[in-house]
Amino acid sequence: MLRSVILAASRSSRIERLVETAPLTRDVVRRFVAGSTVDDALLVTSELVTNGLAVSLDYLGEDTETPEQAAATRDEYLRLLSALRAGELTPAAEVSVKLSALGQRFDEKLAYEHARAICTAATEAGTTVTLDAEDHTTTDSTLDILTKLRADFPTTGAVLQAYLRRTEADCRELATAGSRVRLCKGAYKEPESVAFQSNLDVDKSFVRCLNILMSGDGYPMMATHDPRLIAIGEDRARWFDRSPDEFEFQLLYGVRPEEQARLAAEGYTVRVYTPFGDQWYAYLMRRLAERPANVAFFARALRSK
Ligand code: FAD
Repeated sequence: MLRSVILAASRSSRIERLVETAPLTRDVVRRFVAGSTVDDALLVTSELVTNGLAVSLDYLGEDTETPEQAAATRDEYLRLLSALRAGELTPAAEVSVKLSALGQRFDEKLAYEHARAICTAATEAGTTVTLDAEDHTTTDSTLDILTKLRADFPTTGAVLQAYLRRTEADCRELATAGSRVRLCKGAYKEPESVAFQSNLDVDKSFVRCLNILMSGDGYPMMATHDPRLIAIGEDRARWFDRSPDEFEFQLLYGVRPEEQARLAAEGYTVRVYTPFGDQWYAYLMRRLAERPANVAFFARALRSK
């Protein structure tokens, strides 16, 4: 119920204005977002890398409505990749891209061409691109674009959402040699016809999908903060004899940093998904919607200021 309300609010421009101007909001945002500019992103990335963590940088923004905005997003990624290269932060840092920020909703071909430009720059910088998963109406289009990109850029990463009923089948398709697949629970409000609704069903689906990816030939990237699922991931890595360079854990910037450090100290590859940019509203609202406990976390952060 609370999740639905917050996810509905994440698409309201009126509530967006209210949240953006609320006292202390900016300070709380800084706990989850690396800053506004490429320089901010670079600073946070180099701190994380120094601490033995890998990074995936996300330039915030989604549901772009004009070709000009889509081109501006592409250009920011190109600037970011050239700065990462100059700062010798690749291959530890890669980028995550939302196709909707590149124009997918109004011109799929344009989004594909911009994604290609980003993949080309990433290859030149010696690193990789992962295509974020968005709501289920975009899944087919995103996986089609992924297939086309992988023909020339085979390391392009996919993201699959365990809450979608189709995902087990998608895992089977993608658990092939060289295939990088991030598995997450899924962050959008989806109807029962396409997605599991209860936490337990989503968790069970996550484990089924994880088994497929871990027993397959690809490179699983396990994206969760859930202690129980992380423990299952550690167990499956042992069971399927995967060494630390044959899979990775991924967590979000600002969420469970002590667990990020613990996993890295255990010798696992840990990648921190690190967003930056001014368009943080929808991203932050999805983090709050994930669980009522996260709203409490947000409230505590506000109180502690
Ligand atoms: P939850 O069910 O939210 O939480 C499970 C448990 O984890 C909680 O009970 C608590 O013990 C612990 N926990 C969770 N949050 C906190 C916190 N803030 N502080 C302390 N403990 C906490 N979704 C997409 O739809 N598309 C994407 O492309 C995508 N990419 C992602 C990339 C990464 C690296 C990560 C980590 C997530 C991504 N997500 C994406 C979001 C994901 O789908 C989930 O919405 C999000 O991760 C919350 O699910 P969870 O697995 O962390 O578990």
